[in-house]
Amino acid sequence: MKDLKPDHSTLEPIEIASKDEISALQLQRMKQTLANAYENVNFYRKNFDDAGVHPDDLREVSDLAKFPFTVKQDLRDNYPFGMFAVPRERIARLHASSGTTGKPTVVAYTQNDVEMWADVMARSIRAAGGKPGNIAHVAYGYGLFTGGLGAHYGAERLGCTVVPVSGGMTERQVNLITDFKPEIILVTPSYMLAILDEFTRQGIDPRSSSLDVGVFGAEPWTNAMRADIEQAFDMHAVDIYGMSEIIGPGVAAECVETKDGLHIWEDHFYPEVINPHTGELVDDGEKGELVFTSLTKEAFPIIRYRTRDLTRLLPGTARSMRRMEKITGRTDDMIILRGVNVFPTQIEEQLLKITGLSPHYQIFLSRSGRMDAMSIKVETDGPGRTKEQKESLAKELANHIKGIVGVSAEIDVGEPGAIDRSAGKAVRVVDNRGSE
Ligand code: ADP
Repeated sequence: MKDLKPDHSTLEPIEIASKDEISALQLQRMKQTLANAYENVNFYRKNFDDAGVHPDDLREVSDLAKFPFTVKQDLRDNYPFGMFAVPRERIARLHASSGTTGKPTVVAYTQNDVEMWADVMARSIRAAGGKPGNIAHVAYGYGLFTGGLGAHYGAERLGCTVVPVSGGMTERQVNLITDFKPEIILVTPSYMLAILDEFTRQGIDPRSSSLDVGVFGAEPWTNAMRADIEQAFDMHAVDIYGMSEIIGPGVAAECVETKDGLHIWEDHFYPEVINPHTGELVDDGEKGELVFTSLTKEAFPIIRYRTRDLTRLLPGTARSMRRMEKITGRTDDMIILRGVNVFPTQIEEQLLKITGLSPHYQIFLSRSGRMDAMSIKVETDGPGRTKEQKESLAKELANHIKGIVGVSAEIDVGEPGAIDRSAGKAVRVVDNRGSE
């Protein structure tokens, strides 16, 4: 793998500023954001009034904890444009979440917001080892989903040549990578695995590809998966985090030289971690639910938004700003199986330990009587395994999961390609418990 560590002279000064400088900037921006929200969004005015707080009550950054949370339902209740702080005419762009679990949540950007997003995304790609002049293959979906356009504007801002492929048509993805020779790919880690399969299908050694780094996000993935992808492509794999309600991709990103969690771009997004049951703040280093407050957004200021993502805050390393540990999962993805809490990422870790199985997986939950059951569909890493070999792989995985995660699972070992591939975020859990 190439040494991609960026030259520190190319960083923005704030990335390596002192803690005090960062805090001072945060306080000033937080005041402006609270005032913008209170003055221009009815929801925030009412929410703050009901809680008996006013933007003037913020004297220091830690006073933010006095302000009420915002949750996804608040965004739904104010669908479509009720959370916006600027007249519609000043909105340059709208994005929306998929809306599979209810009304979509709509988010808005002024021209300045679009610029800020491009800046943080460019910063993220640079942290990943991207450089001006690189070719960037963007295989995140384009459209209302923030992944494609977010990556696109950021790569352009950094000075890359952008190839806006979007997700899907996997054969063409491989052809374009082979012909255009990009150094950077931006894609969900699960779709990268589908691209890997296609390399193999076409008889091309993925290690011979031009790719130096993959910027992978939009879904949870483990360090075990990182190791697999890095080995398969002989390239760096770094994590990027974001969500549409906060800005889109580029809220936090890993640095290629350390790969030790994601630096949160705290000059634009202020993080807190809370106990998801009580709402109380927890100390840095303790695990809980991530909460974000935007510090510079104009059209869609967001105050103490509960992301439902579980992680912990850690001190800065390669940059001064704090890091978040790789996300374990979302509170809504947590499977409670006969009293044991399980995240798909824990299953992924065990699966990747087993030679003979591919990294693709899907978890099915069912209920018979009052008993919940989990079955996991996996695939062999090549065709033609005998029934006995498959049974032995299934047993090995079931033992690992029982021994380390603590739950019994039935393992269904299929042929390569047995599991549906998604061109974006993978669907890891299929919950059939309600429908039986
Ligand atoms: P939605 O999935 O709600 O439609 P988004 O497309 O904005 O909305 O996705 C944001 C969510 O994706 C985050 O809250 C988080 O759960 C997940 N996500 C994004 N990046 C990562 C990452 N690097 N690691 C783990 N999860 C991520």
